[in-house]
Amino acid sequence: MAQITLAADGTLQVPQHVDIPFITGDGIGAEITPAMQQIVNKAVATVYAGERSIRWIELMAGGMAYEKVGTYLPDETMDAFAHYHVGIKGPLMTPVGGGIRSLNVALRQGLDLYVCLRPVRWFRGIESPVKHPERVNMTIFRENTEDIYAGIEWEAGSPEAKRFYNFLAGEMGVNKVRFPHTSAFGVKPVSEEGTKRLVRSACLHALRTGSSHVTLVHKGNIMKFTEGGFKKWGYEVAEEFGGRIRMDDCIADAFLQNALLKPEAYDVVATLNLNGDYISDMLAAQVGGIGIAPGANINYKEGRAIFEATHGTAPDLAGQDKANPCSILLSAVMLLEHIGWTEAGRAITDALEATFAEGIATADLARFMDNGQAVGTKAFTQALIARIG
Ligand code: NAD
Repeated sequence: MAQITLAADGTLQVPQHVDIPFITGDGIGAEITPAMQQIVNKAVATVYAGERSIRWIELMAGGMAYEKVGTYLPDETMDAFAHYHVGIKGPLMTPVGGGIRSLNVALRQGLDLYVCLRPVRWFRGIESPVKHPERVNMTIFRENTEDIYAGIEWEAGSPEAKRFYNFLAGEMGVNKVRFPHTSAFGVKPVSEEGTKRLVRSACLHALRTGSSHVTLVHKGNIMKFTEGGFKKWGYEVAEEFGGRIRMDDCIADAFLQNALLKPEAYDVVATLNLNGDYISDMLAAQVGGIGIAPGANINYKEGRAIFEATHGTAPDLAGQDKANPCSILLSAVMLLEHIGWTEAGRAITDALEATFAEGIATADLARFMDNGQAVGTKAFTQALIARIG
């Protein structure tokens, strides 16, 4: 076995027998993560007939890490993700108190994973609230490190908010704050570097996947320098590709309408952090897939990527054989595509499509299917494994 490395030209070097680190995750993580591994192992073994394989390297994080070593996110876990480059994680509980806002945010920030990648597509058999969910096939590139999400804000009435307002009024000549003494304040940093590395990743993805179309989604009409800057810098990136990228842009509110009315008009979407948060969840809901949506956080420059279940730990279902493993499984398909093992990913999505078409799914999905037959996590996993075989 060997680890993935990054070549001088920035491409990933993936050995035939590869080490992939994983975090099991809290709550239902103990059920869905092993299910995902069994299915992936079966697909890789079947498709590559033993020529390729994955050795799974377990890393600690979350409740399990806290119990064993007294910390929710050990340094060794961060170091290992950096070392192995590509990994996958189950859901992690958010510790209450202790100064940690979220383990996921800590991982993203610690490894500077600046792209939140969310592909959105529909699976036949899955109930959707729209008439033509099959027309949705988009990949969202959400900026992951900047914007109002950077966490720079001050509570109303705090000495910091007062000081910040005094600076705005006294030194910057700002007199537009309607209720200055009861206002909270937040700062929205959007940089040229941050924008360009995100949009460049979106353009390269569009070229890699055979589409050349990238749409910038922003509110540059209102926030002229932050979101307007995103648009301007985004178009500058398109110029670097010398006409190979077909770029357009759309104001965020119009995009939300258009994505519902003519979703086929969009392919790869690059957007800022907050817009991306709304857009990813709306599109996932549009294909009925909010509970099974996959995702990844990626730093293409350093070659680091963590694929993840996008839902939480579902403590209400933990240990009952009811959890749906599809979010982490589809994230694993993204991982396989990311390392170039596309055929194994395809074998999994083919098996999923056929299994859903027969109405076989966990209860959260089966209850909305006309021919739905609810099965447990284990039986669903076995149905997929049997189909891949
Ligand atoms: P949740 O996603 O865990 O649960 C919301 C609802 O969705 C519940 O009814 C749950 O049963 C259902 N659900 C979630 N995943 C499911 C699955 N795979 N199969 C079937 N049903 C599923 O959100 P929550 O209850 O708000 O959060 C619980 C914990 O998870 C919190 O500690 C939260 O901070 C954490 N969380 C982690 C992540 C992450 O690691 N990416 C994301 C969201 C929440």
